[in-house]
Amino acid sequence: MRNQKKNRIFDIIIYIILIACLYFAYDFYQQNNFNDFIKSETKLNISEFKRDKEIKYNKTASYKIKSETFNDAMFYKTIKVQKNKPYKVTCMVKTENVEVEENKIGSGAQIVVEGTTEKSTSITGTNDWTKLEFIFNSKNREEVNIGFRLGGYIAKAKGEVWFSNFTIEEGQEETNSDWNFACFIFTQTQVNIDNNEINLEVTKQDITDIKNTLKRFEASCSSMPEGKMSANCDVYEVEKPITSLAYDKEYGYYVSPENVEQQIKDFIIDSDYDHIFIVVRLGDEEHQKDIEVNDWIGLGGMDYYGIGFSNIRLPNSNNSYTYKYNKSINRFPEEVFIHEFLHTLERNSEEYGYKIPELHDYEKYGYKNERLEGQKKWYIDYMNCNINTQNGKIGLPSEIYLKKPAKTKNFINSHKLDEFKQPENIIEVIQEIINKIIERV
Ligand SMILES: [Zn+2]
Repeated sequence: MRNQKKNRIFDIIIYIILIACLYFAYDFYQQNNFNDFIKSETKLNISEFKRDKEIKYNKTASYKIKSETFNDAMFYKTIKVQKNKPYKVTCMVKTENVEVEENKIGSGAQIVVEGTTEKSTSITGTNDWTKLEFIFNSKNREEVNIGFRLGGYIAKAKGEVWFSNFTIEEGQEETNSDWNFACFIFTQTQVNIDNNEINLEVTKQDITDIKNTLKRFEASCSSMPEGKMSANCDVYEVEKPITSLAYDKEYGYYVSPENVEQQIKDFIIDSDYDHIFIVVRLGDEEHQKDIEVNDWIGLGGMDYYGIGFSNIRLPNSNNSYTYKYNKSINRFPEEVFIHEFLHTLERNSEEYGYKIPELHDYEKYGYKNERLEGQKKWYIDYMNCNINTQNGKIGLPSEIYLKKPAKTKNFINSHKLDEFKQPENIIEVIQEIINKIIERV
């Protein structure tokens, strides 16, 4: 009788120890389990990746990244996608004291395609749970790594961030070739370069010239590729000055998407724009306030959240005919706009896996820069895949005019994918563990 009692107490103690062990193991597992996400950081072992069951958006523990010093940290998952489809990824995010190195815009808490420059907007500072949304086009890819990041390719970040409620949906690709352009004329450039305050202004004449040139651009976008596309341009005169510029060794100063995000975001969000032109003045006639630019009048091939983004630099002199039609001086004043837009189509063609000639290679194929019409003949053949070579005709594929950037309206009839489904209770967690073990056996 006594021994039996002793044994029972012993058994109970064993059970308690076992349950405690299981509880601690489960707790440890819960705190550290990132499910199918792979953790990654630029500076190793700087950031802490934890599941947080105290600060969470719904009943499941959130995914937390904490970086006490500047780092670029993310967790990502490989997602299967169909080619040429728009996708929308969302999550809830909460931040605490998120700071970006050198206060740069474009980094912070964000959703990204790992290994690319594709990203959502970025959240910095301290914010309660906010919805973050990221739209991208799969282009030629069949899988992408979707990352939830504290940092960015522009600059590192530090602070604490919690992510939760991951969703992904597939939208419907657009099937028309009607392109919408937003052209922002920045009437003031007010920048500090090497401790020099530089203030430059756009004149009424500049604005008139650009507006006239854009009318010609719209017409040429339809006639030059023989009706394969149409163009509609909305012109905005932005009075809030450009106060920062980006710098590149090859080009000198230019306007990056981050430099104007604050001024243009309200016009672009939920809009139907497929391409953005930024018109800017970076010098004046007296050459007293010239900002270093290495011989560019337009710069292209950039993107603003997946939308093609180009710079158009106004000539320093008001007497220039760069953007003025004149029968005996310039019969193709829309050339810079066409050229920069073609850089976006060139980049898109490459990203969709087409082999195409380089836009700058006109001489290689026997074309000339002509006095009155510049490289118009080259552009026409480039746009119509009509450049003669020994191996047949080359140029832009006609389908490229249909491949426009992904945007909100592509998701009116979307379907949700299950890719981010997380186990939500202990039974699902155990199932997930068993599945993982089976996968490995
Ligand atoms: Zn170019």
